[in-house]
Amino acid sequence: MITSKTQLVGLFGHPVSHSQSPMMHNAAFAETGLDFAYSAFDVEPEALEDAVAGIRALGLRGINVTIPHKVAIMPMLDEIDPLAKRIGAVNTVVSKDGRLFGYNTDGMGYVRSLVEETGIVLDKQIVTMMGAGGAARAVAFTLAEKGVKEIRIINRSRERAAVLADHVGTIVPTRIVEKGEEKDAIADSSLLINTTSIGMLPNVQDTPAPADWLHSGLVVSDLIYNPLETRLLREAKAIGATVHSGVGMFVNQGALAFELWTGIAAPTEVMREVVLQQLTKTV
Ligand code: NAP
Repeated sequence: MITSKTQLVGLFGHPVSHSQSPMMHNAAFAETGLDFAYSAFDVEPEALEDAVAGIRALGLRGINVTIPHKVAIMPMLDEIDPLAKRIGAVNTVVSKDGRLFGYNTDGMGYVRSLVEETGIVLDKQIVTMMGAGGAARAVAFTLAEKGVKEIRIINRSRERAAVLADHVGTIVPTRIVEKGEEKDAIADSSLLINTTSIGMLPNVQDTPAPADWLHSGLVVSDLIYNPLETRLLREAKAIGATVHSGVGMFVNQGALAFELWTGIAAPTEVMREVVLQQLTKTV
């Protein structure tokens, strides 16, 4: 039951109607017995500044931030965590004594789930990443900071790949994979990550990497979680590669936000269960 003592958190995005976050976080609060409640707020871009003032005025404990506000919100906050600054986007805000602190839990959520689910040793990895958008930035910077050996980037737009390669290349050896060289680049990679939206519902027949680019020595990781098993993961599994779906990243970015707001460990398994139930209902 929500009372005058309940601490409020929520999601700022546009649109937010399909978000799994309210159900996932409210299940976590119920499981841990915390007097918190999470709601989704559909915030139009021109209303973002007022909405941020609302965090302070209404005493919200914090918020998650999603498309299209992850970059625009940054100058409206008091402090930005160094990793979020490097990534150039914020997905979690914590309010402490009237000051707003911005974090990015996407990359750490991804890495935590990847390591837990596949047992991968990060500093041994040669990574080929498909995509150079917002999610790619979060994943690439976090993997670079965690000490992977090398990052190779495949992307439709070469300019966007070049910007990411320049930035991440300051931390770890990074190169762009040119068209026609993808199969060779993947051949001696140990981790292949899809950060593009290719293969996401409703385009489930699409794949960012034809099956003949894959090999059994790979861990193949897809950030997409709708569907839970993309064509990329299905084909990777069929040839004996280890596979990792995007649901773990979603759950763990939420778990890390939960921990920033509450100061206690998140009930990750309960959160995963709720998300999986929702996804199997809607797929
Ligand atoms: P974004 O910033 O719009 O970037 C999209 C990326 O996909 C770009 O690299 C883009 O290439 C590429 N792309 C899109 N359509 C393509 C096509 N038809 N052919 C070739 N390349 C294409 O999006 P984002 O925020 O990074 O999200 C990317 C994916 O990650 C989405 O599927 C999203 O659902 C998923 N995601 C998952 C989680 C999670 O928690 N599991 C979190 C965040 C995102 P160009 O640069 O050439 O345009």
